[in-house]
Amino acid sequence: MNDPDQEEISKRRGIYLPSFLIYGGVSGLYDYGPYGSRIKDNVIRIWKDMMLSEGNVAEYDGTSLTQISVLKASGHYDRFFDYSTECENCHTKFRVDDLLEKRNIEVRLDQDYLTRALKEDNIKCDKCGGELGEVKIHKLMFQVEQGQNSDPLFLRPETAQGIFVNFKEYYRFFREKLPFAIIQVGRGYRNEISPRKALYRLREFNMMECESFFDPENERWVNEPPDSFKVKMAANTGEEFFISPREAYERQIVKSQPLAYFIGKSFQFYVRIGLDPDRIRYRQHKKDELSHYSSDTWDAEALTSTGWIEITGIAHRGTYDLSRHIETSGKDLYAQRVIPSRKVMEEVVEIDYGLIKKKFVNDAPAVISALKNNQDFVTIKGEKIKLAEFLIKSHVEKIIDRENFIPTVIEPSFGLDRIIYSLFDQNFTTRAESGFNVLRIPSEISPYEAVVLPLMPNDSLDKVAREVFSQLLAKGGRVLYDESGSIGKRYARYDEVGIVYGITIDYDTLKDNTVTLRHRDTREQIRIPIKEIMNYVRSSPWNGKKN
Ligand code: AMP
Repeated sequence: MNDPDQEEISKRRGIYLPSFLIYGGVSGLYDYGPYGSRIKDNVIRIWKDMMLSEGNVAEYDGTSLTQISVLKASGHYDRFFDYSTECENCHTKFRVDDLLEKRNIEVRLDQDYLTRALKEDNIKCDKCGGELGEVKIHKLMFQVEQGQNSDPLFLRPETAQGIFVNFKEYYRFFREKLPFAIIQVGRGYRNEISPRKALYRLREFNMMECESFFDPENERWVNEPPDSFKVKMAANTGEEFFISPREAYERQIVKSQPLAYFIGKSFQFYVRIGLDPDRIRYRQHKKDELSHYSSDTWDAEALTSTGWIEITGIAHRGTYDLSRHIETSGKDLYAQRVIPSRKVMEEVVEIDYGLIKKKFVNDAPAVISALKNNQDFVTIKGEKIKLAEFLIKSHVEKIIDRENFIPTVIEPSFGLDRIIYSLFDQNFTTRAESGFNVLRIPSEISPYEAVVLPLMPNDSLDKVAREVFSQLLAKGGRVLYDESGSIGKRYARYDEVGIVYGITIDYDTLKDNTVTLRHRDTREQIRIPIKEIMNYVRSSPWNGKKN
């Protein structure tokens, strides 16, 4: 198979391109152009539809700027970093784990180990062969300057924290019943040492995150993990499996039922948007690879022309985040579970207003206010008065039938740009006979379902074509119009951005109101009446035929 240069095509065709190009651009920042934005939105729409169709899932839309206290509590402020080294000659910065991985040297995320590995394997600068400097900690969060005396703000490195701190809002929304999940699509920001491969490693990127909450005593999603297909799995023991998500859970290869469920769900999503099922696998993190918040993580990886790349992390975050926010904020982020009811004697403390009024008359309000402030003493007319004697203590019987607990969290975190990168990598091909490129993505992902093409921009063909275009738009069609250039060039242009059907208005159209419908992948052409176009396009979405 030929491998067209996805970056070159994307830039030329306005799918995606480096940001701020007229000023030279900034590494790790990319924009989506007219076609790319639509493809991206289609992927997001399908993802949201699939997640929300679970029933017990709601959406959240939080800010990117994040208060420092949130990130101190979550551990990102102290622990979100990579190890870097800088060339002493050309001053290029590298991620140390990248340098080792490239040379097939074992990576351990430990500063001493990495320093030793660089030395022992005599690793030099990949760019100029110069000596590499010491291994340093490179913090990954972008800090945003604020006015004097205000706490700094950070651009969020993940969208999840906004969901955790608002847990109680959602708990109420779901009428205090677990499990439920909150999804969020938004930008994440990481000051990567070495952004690379266009959309693969960005400094600002798109995430589609889902935080699902469980009672740890009953950590089960509402539906069972699917059993109707098998996925490749690579466990951290070195064993590999081709197994259904349900069986992976039953055999305890994946220990958590919801984690196995989301492995299955993510697979269905990838296949629906056009990733090749044979080029997807799930790889379990090794112990020293786990993020600070995770006790078990399975990465979904896609096989691209440059090897397997992580597209989604599915992590068991346990009670880590909610516990940290409870501890740090002092606020109640607990859920409650029903327990067998039992009676307890509870102490009730009341203020003895009668006694206070009798003893103090005019100064009674000061005494009452001190008691309400939980003070032990108050000074009245220079005299220090002990307040305990103005409290009446009694015991009442109470029924306890609920207890607090901290929910556990399973998080599938989808990297949208990497998914799109892999989708393009797997679906761009070059036609052997013509050398033209074609992007074979499913119709529902395509930027447009069809493009209306008058054979010539004159002889009334353009007028009729514009009428057809308007009719299709009025029927809700996702269509485009183009009359510039030869018909062959126009077919090639729209094949390259993945539009499934070309609708050609030619001289026969003027006679019998039919058009030529050309399919992107097969290049087969059929003639159909204008009024049937929309139905045909809708009822025969991408048929998977490849030539
Ligand atoms: P993580 O929170 O590190 O598991 O990231 C979640 C997902 O975001 C990953 O699976 C990637 O697909 C994606 N991702 C992480 N870092 C980047 C980046 N620098 N550029 C683009 N995508 C990223």
